[in-house]
This record gives sequence, C-alpha cells and structure tokens, in this order.
Amino acid sequence: MAGAVTAAVLVTGDEVLRGRIPDANGGHLARDLDARGVAVRRIVVVGDGIDTLVRALRELLDESPDLVVTSGGLGPTHDDRTMEAVAAVTGRPLAVDPEALALVRRGRMALRGAETITDATRARVEDKQATLPRGAVVLPPTGTAPGCVVRHGRTLVCVLPGPPWELTRMWARACDEVDELRSVLAGAAPGERRLLRLYAVVESEVVETLDRLDPALRDAVEAGVCARAGEIELSLRGPADAVRRIEAGVEAVFGDRLYARRGETALGLVEAALRARGETLAVAESCTGGLLGARITAIPGASEWFRGGVVAYDNSVKEGLLGVDPAVIARHGAVSEECARAMARGARAAVGADWAVAVTGIAGPGGGTPDKPVGLVHLALAGPGGVEDAHSPRVLRGDRERIRERAAAIAVHLLRRALDAAPAGARHA
Ligand code: ATP
Ligand code: MG
Repeated sequence: MAGAVTAAVLVTGDEVLRGRIPDANGGHLARDLDARGVAVRRIVVVGDGIDTLVRALRELLDESPDLVVTSGGLGPTHDDRTMEAVAAVTGRPLAVDPEALALVRRGRMALRGAETITDATRARVEDKQATLPRGAVVLPPTGTAPGCVVRHGRTLVCVLPGPPWELTRMWARACDEVDELRSVLAGAAPGERRLLRLYAVVESEVVETLDRLDPALRDAVEAGVCARAGEIELSLRGPADAVRRIEAGVEAVFGDRLYARRGETALGLVEAALRARGETLAVAESCTGGLLGARITAIPGASEWFRGGVVAYDNSVKEGLLGVDPAVIARHGAVSEECARAMARGARAAVGADWAVAVTGIAGPGGGTPDKPVGLVHLALAGPGGVEDAHSPRVLRGDRERIRERAAAIAVHLLRRALDAAPAGARHA
C-alpha cells in the first residue's frame, strides 16, 4: 500500500536470542502497531553485544521506516547498551539528561532500604540510566529506567525497556503523550478490520474459500489465516465494503461454524450468554485437571457466573464427589460417554449450577489401549434441559499438553453452542 506508515521492531537480549525466555515484546508492539494501522515490516531479535546492536539498528534505519521501536537493554548493568547503540547510529553524543536523572532518582527512592549498595554505586547506576542520546525526548520510567524518543532522518526511534510490564506501559503512555510519536501514528489509517473465528473448520477450507473470491476483491483486502487451538482465525483489513463482502462470502460457506466476527472468543461468548441469562456454570474435569477452571477464572468477574468445579481425577473422586455410579465405571470405564454424562450431572448437582460441562479422557503418553487410544476424550454437558454428550468420542492428536488444551477448548465450544441453541430461562419453565 502506497503511503503506508511503516515500522520495524528491534528486540534485544541474549536471553531472548538463546530461547531462554519467549519474546513477549515484539508481538505486543506488532499487534499494537497493526491495530493502529501501521505496517510492521520486521521484528528483529538480537543479543546484547554493542556491535550487534549497532549493526542491527543501522540495517533497520537504512530501510527508512517511519518508526523503529527497540525493546530492552536500558538497565544499569554492563550488558545494557541500547542507548549507546542508538547514540552511535544517530550520531548523537551520550550525556546525562537532567530531566531523566531526576526521574531516575525519584523512581529509585522506593528502593532505598531494600538496596544495599554504596552511595558511589548508586550514583553510577543513576547516571547510567539517565544517560541518553543528546536531544532525545525522555520517556518517564515505568520501572527504573527511562526510555526515549529520538529522530533520525525520516525515522523516529523509540527506545523502550525490556521487562514486558514496563514496556507495555511506557509504550502506551508515549503513544498518548509524546507529540513526535503521535504525529507519526496520526498518519496511519487503520481501515476496516475484522477478526473472524471459525470452529470445526480446517485451514485449507478457509484458504480455498478465499481463493475462490473475485481476484479484485481479494487484492483489495489483506487477509491473514491463522490456525490455533483447533480454531481458525481469519483477519481482514482493507476498504470497508470489500471487507464486508468477504465476510459475507465466508459466512455463506461456513454458516454457524463462523462463530465470531469481531474477535470474540468462545469463552467470552459463553460468559456473555450466561450473564445475559443470569445462569451459572460448573465444571467436572478429569484429564484436563483444572485447565478449564483456570481458563474460566482467568476472566475478571468470573465469580458472577462460574460457581466452581471438581477435579475428579481418581475414580473414587468421580464416585464420591460427583456421585458417578461405580457400576458405570465398572461397565464402561472412566473414559466413556456414560461416565462423562454422569460427571456432568453430578457436577451440576454438587455445585448447584445451571450448566455443567464434564471432560474425561486419556491425555497420554501412557494409558492408551486399542479400544481407547491416547487422545480419546469424552465430553458431556448438563443443562436445564437435561444431559447431552458432545459428539463423543473424539480422538485428539498431539502430545499430553496439546490433548489437554484441545479438550478444554472443545468443552468451551460445547457450552457455547448449547447456550446459543437453548432458549433462555428454560429452567424457569
Ligand atoms: P533491566 O533494568 O531489568 O535490566 P532492561 O531494559 O535492561 O531492564 P533487559 O535487560 O533487556 O531489559 O531485560 C530485563 C528482563 O526483562 C529480562 O531478563 C526478561 O526477564 C525481561 N525481558 C526483556 N526482554 C523481553 C522480551 N522481549 N520478552 C519478554 N521478556 C523480556
Ligand atoms: Mg538489563
């Protein structure tokens, strides 16, 4: 696209480069920039060495993007050399910035007492963290280190700290408050966007659907297909009319397998449906061992619609706490449709919820048999209208973690569909 506002992200740090910690910052910045309509051209990850930093920065600046954002290397230690690299590449001398020094000192006050260092060391640390390329705009610390914004030719360089909590806050604040950055971002046009989510669809079906579109329409829109956790995400961006036509085309092919058009998550839809009905949920988990409950309770305010659950791992717990008839387990096994149904019914009663979803399965790697292979998962749902099982049996592929994750995801979709289909307030009838 001609005239697009462009950006590159430079993530620094040996720990990230060596894979010891996963990069959180590149993705965060890229998502945020993308949402603002900025075209992110590259995310580059490099180590801490000054030569590498300088080379990487030069390379990015040579491409003259509107914006380069860096992450990490603003601490007080010898391996924190990002400011030095930015100074070298932009041809600005390094100097202690009085405004930055005051901010660093104020920020470090909180550490006094906790920190057992000499005054000389403290002064050195403070000076180091307040040393910026001359002429830079100071970004106040969100931890201990200030960041900065500095212009180089047509590129604005924005230098942020590495700890993700600090980086996200400093970036958000800078986008709101720093005029130089605001004017770059103001040139970006987000256009119309959609994030569609599809369930029970494979990626190639979506790709094929896009391929069949009128080429002019397809070219007008940036479409991204991403498979994750058994779902497909389709992001669309472009002129409003073209985006809407593609959305309609996808709906015509996939019907209700297209379950979200504005990026809603399956669990978010479950929450919204339960809230709208004033109903509550319980879970009974065997192979997922609390994963489902953890996902639910990660949502703020979940206590208003989630009552709780039972991690019924051992059969004695399925029987004792969920009231599963021992004869059911003896006859059908703990991983069976019958057991899943009894678990759902039992959880609903035990917890006093309107709805309960139960998961039982073989996550592996051991424990599989020819009849009941690793990955076999049974799910069931108990609601105001009774108990139903969920397309069981399902045999999920992957390792233990993936099987557990997928089983939890299927449970959520099961709920979503049931809540979608059931008339509200059935229990009061
Ligand atoms: P500090 O003052 O803590 O040294 P810094 O700005 O110098 O901050 P780094 O030294 O690069 O940042 O990183 C500090 C810590 O922040 C790392 O040890 C790591 O835990 C976290 N961190 C840094 N970069 C990333 C990243 N890209 N993704 C996730 N975590 C990161
Ligand atoms: Mg550091």
